[in-house]
Amino acid sequence: MNRTDFPCLDVKVHNKPLVYFDNAATAQRPQVVIDAINNYYSKTNANVHRGVHSLSGEATDLFEAARISMAKLLNSPSEKNLIFTRGCTEGVNLVAQTFVRSRVQAGDEIIVTEMEHHSNIVPWQLLCEQTGAILKVLPFNDNGELQIELLNDLITDKTQFMAVVHVSNSLGTINPVKQIIKIAHARDVPVLIDGAQAMPHIKVDVQDLDCDFYTVSGHKMYGPTGIGILYGKMEHLEAMPPYHGGGEMISHVTFEKTVYNAVPAKFEAGTPNIAGAIGLGVAADYILKAGIENIHQTDNELLKYATEQLLKVDGLRIIGTAQNKVSVISFTLKGVHPHDLGTILDHYGVAIRTGHHCTMPAIKHFNVPATARASFAFYNTKAEIDYFIESLEKAREMFN
Ligand code: PMP
Repeated sequence: MNRTDFPCLDVKVHNKPLVYFDNAATAQRPQVVIDAINNYYSKTNANVHRGVHSLSGEATDLFEAARISMAKLLNSPSEKNLIFTRGCTEGVNLVAQTFVRSRVQAGDEIIVTEMEHHSNIVPWQLLCEQTGAILKVLPFNDNGELQIELLNDLITDKTQFMAVVHVSNSLGTINPVKQIIKIAHARDVPVLIDGAQAMPHIKVDVQDLDCDFYTVSGHKMYGPTGIGILYGKMEHLEAMPPYHGGGEMISHVTFEKTVYNAVPAKFEAGTPNIAGAIGLGVAADYILKAGIENIHQTDNELLKYATEQLLKVDGLRIIGTAQNKVSVISFTLKGVHPHDLGTILDHYGVAIRTGHHCTMPAIKHFNVPATARASFAFYNTKAEIDYFIESLEKAREMFN
């Protein structure tokens, strides 16, 4: 768990050392992850599960070892509960179009929250268009905390499913998902948790949460892009119809009838992102070795320091002030549009994100068109935060 493990942090932008505060969009990868991808392509490149030859066996072993590493990280009862996906987006779409689609009829209800990422809104809207189901929304208060007390009334006899983000990518809020799942389960409503932003910051234990589904994006947790995990309870995965048809997901095909493969292969049609999966496994091992508690503690120190320093900046408003947050800070600066701010900071080498962060309804809640967002990872430093604040002050002076 060292900053020097991440080679991309050494690059220069506009001749200035990069200060990378866009970790919520995508984190950097440690050298071990980059090496694992390189080694796969240069030493063990072969297709998985299909070949009788040695290289295919080695590739399959590495691919399946990655599933085991992710199972350890998530405390999954078995690696068989984990499906490789392209990321959280595909995980949500998969659950919407298989598990939930086979359960809902016109007039049934699906609940999401006001702070969801678009990838946990739009798949449900698509499903509602296809089935006549209705999307309902659990609101949050002005601090960016879900109004859990409203949930019991929001759930009705028509509610078939609930999908909730574990950690908000725009507000930083850590939601009490265990409590939400308990309330939903008491009414027989299964729950999917979007874990994109939780994985790089906090301990995730799918058995303790008792979630029905949990989605992971590799690139947020120091792994490769275009790879992720969908965890599901085995009784659901076994009962669900497949998502994509093709090779790998079958055990027997005739023109009359196809028998599907066992879980998880049933949901992994086609040649998978083998290098991505292997890299993800190494990223999981990296987190396991570093200790998520240590990562969380460092993140927390950065969050506390950055919040204190930002609040000293004239005209700065933090958007998302929940009690329980990860190191993601959205803000606005009076007199400076977030996009202009992002462009100026880039000239100082500081990478932040500006806009709606794919959470338009959450940003709309605060009556602002956009925010600037600084998101930290454990490899960031207080010195970088100081430099970021100095650059912010220069931007403010420029506009005033
Ligand atoms: N949910 C949240 C909370 C996210 O932050 C993101 C990525 N910004 C996603 C879902 C989607 O992840 P991906 O694009 O990797 O599928």
